[in-house]
Amino acid sequence: MLTAENLTKTYRRNADIVRVLNGVSLAVRDGEFMSIVGASGSGKSTLLHVLGTLDAPDSGTISLDGKRLDNLSNRERDAVRNRTFGYVFQFYHLLPELSAIDNALMPAYISNSFLGWMQTRRQWRRRADELFERVGLSHRKTHKPREMSGGEMQRCAIARALLQRPRVLLADEPTGNLDAEKGNEILELLHDLNRRDRVTIVMVTHNLEMAGTTHRTIRLAGGRVVEEKGPTFRPRLLSAAV
Ligand code: ADP
Ligand code: MG
Repeated sequence: MLTAENLTKTYRRNADIVRVLNGVSLAVRDGEFMSIVGASGSGKSTLLHVLGTLDAPDSGTISLDGKRLDNLSNRERDAVRNRTFGYVFQFYHLLPELSAIDNALMPAYISNSFLGWMQTRRQWRRRADELFERVGLSHRKTHKPREMSGGEMQRCAIARALLQRPRVLLADEPTGNLDAEKGNEILELLHDLNRRDRVTIVMVTHNLEMAGTTHRTIRLAGGRVVEEKGPTFRPRLLSAAV
């Protein structure tokens, strides 16, 4: 569904040139849960950002259903991004002044005109309520981020990412800021969304045990994909989460 071919990406800092991606190719299949692992600094976040069109590659292509995304105009790419990708980050990136439900509704505020929002807000609210139910956060709708635990904030961020029914959920170390138990609960939620709602997921993690629960894992090193494992169909539940 989503393919990347021969991606390269270089960062320049003063005299230093760091080639972070050096010919990365991969394909994300519809309905799969894949993971990306690699040492710190190996380019996992960069790859996820490039895949999700948040950042442009220096060369190489990104295609969705065979159509190139990397050569679209900014405006076209913004539109495609909104209906294609949902993002989840390690540190949640919730707005501190907004309630949980308003945080989750943020993508709809942003992507609609004022009039469009006024006409559709009831549907969006219903959708957000549904998602809060789905991620187990119905009891925290009016809480502010500072009134929620890390696990709750990540559930809220996942609801926000799913609001507009993205084709692919991109998650960058979604459990990286949580203790093992809460982390496993979030992983289990992602598995449940993948299984029951067929949400396609690409998750960056440096936790190999977590990566091992996904259908397929690729490892980045030296700017390339150096290993690919899977697809596997072994039990996807971590014993600790059962
Ligand atoms: P990972 O997520 O695997 O830890 P990143 O993709 O964040 O790795 O970073 C890969 C490398 O690129 C690191 O060496 C990092 O310092 C460098 N890097 C990332 N973003 C930038 C940037 N905006 N400017 C300069 N260097 C960057
Ligand atoms: Mg990273």
